[in-house]
Amino acid sequence: MTGWPILGHQLAVRQLQQAVSQDNVPHALLITGPENVGKMTLAHTLAQAMLCTADEDRPCGVCRACRKVAAGHHPDLLVISPEGPRGKLKIEAIRAAEQFLALTPHESRHKLVLVEHFEQATIGAANALLKTLEEPPGYAHLVLLAGDSESLLPTIVSRTNQIALRPLPVPLVEQALQSRRHVPAAEAERLARISGGRIGWAVRAVDEPEHLQQMEAAIAQWLALMSSDLPEQFAALKTLSRSDTDLRQMLAYWLIGWRDVLLLKTQAEAPLTLQEHRPALEQLAERVTIRQITALIERIGAAQALLQRNVNAQLLLETLLLAHQQTR
Ligand SMILES: [Zn+2]
Repeated sequence: MTGWPILGHQLAVRQLQQAVSQDNVPHALLITGPENVGKMTLAHTLAQAMLCTADEDRPCGVCRACRKVAAGHHPDLLVISPEGPRGKLKIEAIRAAEQFLALTPHESRHKLVLVEHFEQATIGAANALLKTLEEPPGYAHLVLLAGDSESLLPTIVSRTNQIALRPLPVPLVEQALQSRRHVPAAEAERLARISGGRIGWAVRAVDEPEHLQQMEAAIAQWLALMSSDLPEQFAALKTLSRSDTDLRQMLAYWLIGWRDVLLLKTQAEAPLTLQEHRPALEQLAERVTIRQITALIERIGAAQALLQRNVNAQLLLETLLLAHQQTR
């Protein structure tokens, strides 16, 4: 069997390749892992392999089915996602998936539904999906993608086979950016370092310069927030919570910043993820204690989890801000 076009995640890839070749891919799969770690790429390759019409080495990449999957219009594959970064996955989307799965396959022996950001499903949507999971038709396969399984209904998790993806080793991402995307060495090192092994983030940073600019802006904003006074901070947060900023992504960048500050506190000479901002981070490190930093890191993590549910973004940011205030 030839390799799938996937960097790293060998165990998961091997497991799925074997399931495809033995024709026993589970009806419900749950692929978990941090954002941009490669969940959709893995799910998409699995779909392509299952729908591919070649006799072996699936996906072949060249048959009609493979090309249709790659182009996003294979009639036996449906991808559903929430609308926008703060959107909910609604019951209508699950109903559409149900209807899709109720009809037998058009062109292959399988039908697949990939559900992106399943942690953003409403309770109604999750319950509707649960029914689908109870008695799926033999040809039907559901692949749910989510950040982690803890935020999902246990009744759903227990009905799925779980595959957990972790960030790749940073040097592997660095190497791939150089060899596959021809990124100059210094830039590949920087992007891989910031990606923390989330290959999708690094690739997007190469393909879409605005993605990287967003990060730079989020870090600059965070550093400015940390040195401004309270009324200014609240005004800034009000604007933020009403804008269409991807708050979860923004908090992820804040976490990168705080982890660097923590690193400075514990090993002053350590290489930082945000090496370019070292002077500002050092200033921040002088003002806070290790205990405060770890508490903030915890709170930001909790806030990220809450954002997946229907919480008031402004209120959440204000609470978080007050926690940050205690560091001043
Ligand atoms: Zn093929």
